[in-house]
Parts: sequence; structure tokens; C-alpha cells
Amino acid sequence: MITTTRRAQDRIEDLFNLAPGDGSGANRPAFSQQEAEAMLLVADWARQAGLEPGVDPFGNLWCLPPGDGPFVTSGSHVDTVPDGGRLDGPLGTVLAVEAANRAGGRRGVLVCAAEEAARFGAGTLGSRCMTDKLTDSDLARMRDANGHDALSARTKYLDALRELPILEQAPLERVLAHVEVHIEQRADLRERDLSIGIATTIAGPVRHRLSFVGEVAHAGETPVAERHDALCAAAETVLLAEKLCREYAPHTTVTAGTLRVHPNALTSIPGAAELGVDIRSVEGGRAQRLLQDLLQGARAAADSRGVTLNEEPLSASEPTTMDAAMVRAAEKACGGLGMRYGRCVSFAGHDAQHVATATPTALLFVASENGVSHAPGEAADWRDVEAALAVLVELMQGLLGGVA
Ligand SMILES: [Zn+2]
Repeated sequence: MITTTRRAQDRIEDLFNLAPGDGSGANRPAFSQQEAEAMLLVADWARQAGLEPGVDPFGNLWCLPPGDGPFVTSGSHVDTVPDGGRLDGPLGTVLAVEAANRAGGRRGVLVCAAEEAARFGAGTLGSRCMTDKLTDSDLARMRDANGHDALSARTKYLDALRELPILEQAPLERVLAHVEVHIEQRADLRERDLSIGIATTIAGPVRHRLSFVGEVAHAGETPVAERHDALCAAAETVLLAEKLCREYAPHTTVTAGTLRVHPNALTSIPGAAELGVDIRSVEGGRAQRLLQDLLQGARAAADSRGVTLNEEPLSASEPTTMDAAMVRAAEKACGGLGMRYGRCVSFAGHDAQHVATATPTALLFVASENGVSHAPGEAADWRDVEAALAVLVELMQGLLGGVA
């Protein structure tokens, strides 16, 4: 007989092998054909577990227990960053199907669409649209590197899922509680000798685009005093971000992760530089304070060079405090099974924080072997995965109370 974890391992490999990219990692961008293919695969496994799959208008996959009553859900996502790992998303998704398979009853699976921000500069699109935090016009304004907007991408993605029933709306009001299991994205749990982390807070990301506009000029014929070098102003801002990241550590981070230079020519003074900045904090108000410090520095860097600065907020949210009763329920499940567990925070955003606004939600992390995340080297000890599955089954059973 094939063991549950062996099947889970095989399924994670099946997802990984769907769209191997040029490197050694997974490539299933948000709202892509590859994400749709992965959703179809999960729908198939869910059917084998006796669930009824369907897609809501936002692109999220729901695998429902038969009948009309309330149920509990678990799940994560199946899209990836470019050249991503095999566990971020698929681990929680595959374990959710296993939990339904192992325990039956009123357990469903919820796989949220377009969780990763890599393609459109904003993530958790499926869960945020489902919980009224984003609208179609917001999606229409988001563009990928090829100029495709997220709304049209979702339409094509939904088209690729047309073999599944389309749900008129997300059946959130029937969900008693939701649990997302996710691979840990740092190496904290292993250092604490824990298998499972229970998230108490999820950082709220604040994202900004800073566009420096100077003047294109000849690299050889323009004296330094006459230059309006947009890239130099951006570069100063990048280094300031690093400095602030040190000053605000450990509960707040800032990263300047994207830079576009115009005309990007070796013989020209850069006339424009566009910088993307991501700030995260698990403490309320801290991300905004860091942003103000950064903007002040960026304005000074621009002013000193006769460069103009356009500041464009992309998104801003406060940290999410996870439901205290759900945290206690998860602790009880872990404790009852004798697992090594502890509380933790998440700097990475997750669908769980948005689903949490509609129904009591828990986010559980499985210890990472090496702290690698968003890269092909993501790894977990399968004993920890087995532990997480046992906890998930136990927790969902407890959450169902008298319903199952
Ligand atoms: Zn993830």
C-alpha cells in the first residue's frame, strides 16, 4: 500500500514537473496556463478523494464535500515565482487533499489563485478578490513585464479551467474555519528544534515604485557637475534601503528588488531609473515609518542631482493578527499529538491572512531544512511533513466539532 506521505511526495513532484523552466526550478506564473494545469491536477486528486471541484469567479479552486452543509477547508496555492521551489504552495495544497482523503467528513480544499507577486507586482490576487479587497479594475491596472494585465490573464486562465464547474460565487459563508499549511521560508524552526510553527502575525507589505527622472546625456561629453543622473539617485536610495533594513531589524525589513534604467546604454547618462521597494513589518505602523524615512532620503538624493522623483504607492497593508482561538486550537492539536511546535511570525504574505477576514483561519509552517525559499533548493524533512499532516487532520477534526 502506498503511504500518504509517499503519495504526497509523488504529487509534489508531479506539480513540479508540470512546467520545468530553463533552470532547475518550477515555473508556474500567476494566472498562467501552467497554474491552470496545476489546478486541474489538484482537482483530479480531489475527485479521487470524493470531493467535488469547482472554480469561483476569482480563479480559486474549491474542492467541496458533497451536500450543502458547512465544512472546514485547508489548502494553499500552486503558482510559483520564476525558477521556484517544489514546496512553496504545493506542500499545503497536497496535504489538504491528503487530509480530506485520510479523514473524510466535511473537509474541503481551497487552493487560492495567483498567490505569488512575481508576475504582476502584487500577490494573493485570488484570495484578495474573493474577500473584496481587490476589484476587477484593480486587476486591470496591474501589468506583467510583457504588458499583459492581470484581468485579461485571469480570463484566459479561467478559460483553461473550463472543464471544471464554475461556481457562481466563492462559498465562503459555508466555511467554518480554514487552515493553510506552508513550508517555512526561513530556518528559524530548525534552529529551535521544532517541526511545526503556528503563525500569530503575518507582516503587512507596503510597496512603492520610485521613478527618478533626470536627463539623458553623452557619457563622455557631460561634465559631472552638469549631469542629472537618475541612476545615481536611485542607487543612493537602494543603499539607504539597506541601511534602514539594518536599523529597523528584526521585525521590519525593506528591499529594493527591481530597477529599470533608461536608456540603459553604456554611453549615456541614465535619464530615468525606476525602483521597486518592498517593506514588511510584523509591528503595526513600523512599515509606514520606514517608508517615510526612505522617501525623505530618496527626495534628498533626487534634489541634490536636479532629478525629479515620482512616488507611486503600489500597495499598503497592516500586519494581520491571526485568530487567537485558532492559534490555541492548533497548539492543542500539536500538543495532543506530542509534536515539537512553537509560535512564530511570517514576513511573507499568505492567502491565509485574507481568508482570515472571512472565517477563522490558522497558518501552520513546516520546518524548512535549509531556510531556502522561492528557489529550487526548498526542502523539508518528511518526518516533519508527516507530523504536519497528522496535526492538520486532528485540527480540522476539532474545528468541525459536532458537524462531521
Ligand atoms: Zn507560498
